[in-house]
Amino acid sequence: MAILVTGGAGYIGSHTVAELLARGKEVVVVDNLQQGHREAVIGGTLEVGDLRDADFMAEVFRKHKVEAVIHFAASSLVGVSMKEPGEYYHNNVYGTLCLLEAMHKAGVNNIVFSSTAATYGEPEQVPIKETDRTQPTNTYGETKLAMERMMHWYDVAHGVKYVSLRYFNAAGAHASGRIGEDHSPETHLIPLVLQVALGQREQISIFGGDYATPDGTCVRDYIHVSDLADAHLRALGRLLDGGESAVYNLGNGRGFSVREVIEVAREVTGHPIPSVLLDRRGGDPAVLVASADRARTELGWIPQQPELRDIIASAWQWHSAHPHGYRG
Ligand code: UDP
Repeated sequence: MAILVTGGAGYIGSHTVAELLARGKEVVVVDNLQQGHREAVIGGTLEVGDLRDADFMAEVFRKHKVEAVIHFAASSLVGVSMKEPGEYYHNNVYGTLCLLEAMHKAGVNNIVFSSTAATYGEPEQVPIKETDRTQPTNTYGETKLAMERMMHWYDVAHGVKYVSLRYFNAAGAHASGRIGEDHSPETHLIPLVLQVALGQREQISIFGGDYATPDGTCVRDYIHVSDLADAHLRALGRLLDGGESAVYNLGNGRGFSVREVIEVAREVTGHPIPSVLLDRRGGDPAVLVASADRARTELGWIPQQPELRDIIASAWQWHSAHPHGYRG
């Protein structure tokens, strides 16, 4: 029996595939390779196609005996989602609808879902708990929340069990050095900061210095991608053991401002990393920090690389060895 990983050629997906393979699981990756990289899939079977192509998905489920799905395939950039909401609804919401229909037809009833802290919007309290209000401030978060709710109603109607993992800010790279973060265009803070250290850009832009935070810049909870991958395997185990649907936050429970991230990157890289203060980016909440108590208690999940310095050092190892990502 195989685990079907949608978006398994992407950043977090490829790290989860590596973890599944390391534990001897049979893996089938579905990816349209719009954002993903063929080279990032270090084993298993890669089926290139789109979730929204019903014939393709029916064929995938016909060819492979699928036990459960881990669903990453989605558009994930806050900034772009504010400019192209239609693209986000189509790829994320409609894509998930097509996936759930294909699963239902194939009789596959377990799904681990890649969700996000962006489902909360401006937090009611910090750290954020799973029971807190969800009121997204951007289209990306809104589509992920819609996808979660869709799974809930497929559970009610068809008994599809889901575990939704709301991650905070993924960063770092696999210890093997074989896979890491490679987005095009890159919009995430840590890889962009490291591009400055590599001499690929002159400075890092800081989006907004007037937030209600200690230094005026946004605060985020950074979590190592391999710790995220481990949580997916635990979530999968819960479902395969017959567990009920659930939602978990995944973060380290500590927030770092944009300026603090840049400062740690200066220490790790030894580069001065010049910065320039710009206007706020649309849709960004001031502070996103997780309470991951539920994941600790119910999944036994304990991050192994919680220190920001180690997370950035791990990202730096990948970016300095692969300055042009998988192309290099
Ligand atoms: N950010 C920034 N400059 C950049 C990229 C990001 O100041 O060049 C900020 C962004 O506004 C947010 C934080 O860094 O407050 C983390 O952004 P990222 O895009 O990495 O992740 P997100 O929180 O959007 O998932």
